[in-house]
Amino acid sequence: MSAKRWAQFISALAVFFCSINYAHATRQFCVSIRYSWQDAGVGEDYQTANPAGQWADRVWIVLKKDGTTYWSGYADSGATTYSCTPKLNAPTGSYVMWTTMAFKPRSGSYIFVRDTKTQADAGDWTWYSKDFGTLAQTSYQKMHTINVGYQYTTSWATTNVGAVVSRLGGSRDFGLRSGTLQIYADESVTGSFYDNDEQAVYVGYDSGYGDNYTSKFVVAHEIGHWVHHQLMGDYLNNYTDSANKAVCRCGYVGAGIDSHCLQSREFSGPAVGEGWSQFFATSVFNDPAGSTAWMAYYKKSLNFTNPNVNSPISPPRPISVIPSTRYRWLEKQGCDAADTGSEVDWMGFLYYLNNKTSNKYTFTELEGVFDEMCGGKCVQQVSDLPTWTNLSTAVQNVYPAGNKRDHFIDNGAAFGVDH
Ligand SMILES: [Zn+2]
Repeated sequence: MSAKRWAQFISALAVFFCSINYAHATRQFCVSIRYSWQDAGVGEDYQTANPAGQWADRVWIVLKKDGTTYWSGYADSGATTYSCTPKLNAPTGSYVMWTTMAFKPRSGSYIFVRDTKTQADAGDWTWYSKDFGTLAQTSYQKMHTINVGYQYTTSWATTNVGAVVSRLGGSRDFGLRSGTLQIYADESVTGSFYDNDEQAVYVGYDSGYGDNYTSKFVVAHEIGHWVHHQLMGDYLNNYTDSANKAVCRCGYVGAGIDSHCLQSREFSGPAVGEGWSQFFATSVFNDPAGSTAWMAYYKKSLNFTNPNVNSPISPPRPISVIPSTRYRWLEKQGCDAADTGSEVDWMGFLYYLNNKTSNKYTFTELEGVFDEMCGGKCVQQVSDLPTWTNLSTAVQNVYPAGNKRDHFIDNGAAFGVDH
């Protein structure tokens, strides 16, 4: 071989090795649910055995390169803990990653988590994009959200919401029935609420607290309204605060979020409905067999023994639900009145009723009592209001005698919801 041809051969090898090197110049990425709470450390009895986010394989990923699909699959497929599997080495380039979270916590029950309702290219997809070509090649890092091998922190919303939804899977009964719920983590929305017409939950923002998705209890609370709708139907929902004492109104929580609060006096419809959702959220994050149960409240609230509306307690505040915390809040403040109640009293009553003693009421049994009261699912009419008179009559029709009936009636009085 002539010197010239050797030079050509070596040059060809160099090109070959260059291409090998180029093939190695890739960006490794992986995906998983990551979440971050402002109320971490409250009500997390579940955490050891059943971490939120375990259903990360329900996150469907489509990675597009130059407009065509490069790879698609589930995040952390099959993993029960954060494992960054699968990993993918993607050639340097510009990618758009599409993600959506679709959960099927029960047969016939579907929950979809989206970023915003008005997202461009909406459909089922929420999209995130990033030009990988500009990234330094580093080993993969754990991130807070759908991530691609570097710190991507602009949206924790859907991953936080997805982590809460993931709690509804598994063997525990949370009362879900057939139906489809859409959850929009939308920071452009004021506050958080369940929309009955749309069968949708909006997790938004308010000036009193900030991004509501940072509170796992807020997310679970709104899902609780959907579950209540499925099991019981709906009531007239007049939130007008009729109490004349400041301790039983919401003036201290802050403008814009003061239509109702944990310790305010509410008419029976919202008192039961909101108390239900506080109970549901407490159930999501606590072991029903546990000796304690906590919820974190996201608005300001009052000391139970020495309430002072001029110095309310700032959120997130741990509220003890178990051991059997019978606050009897309205009665102790002298605010109780016929056909009214408070969220905190109903929360405690329903949690205790659902979880404690051998005579506890399953979700299906609670559904049966309310069905009896309304002659089917409750609708928004006066005769279907869940007053204590209506409820106690219904429970005695379903359970005419015995400990099961007494468990409901006696604890209604003990928790102060018998108004
Ligand atoms: Zn609510």
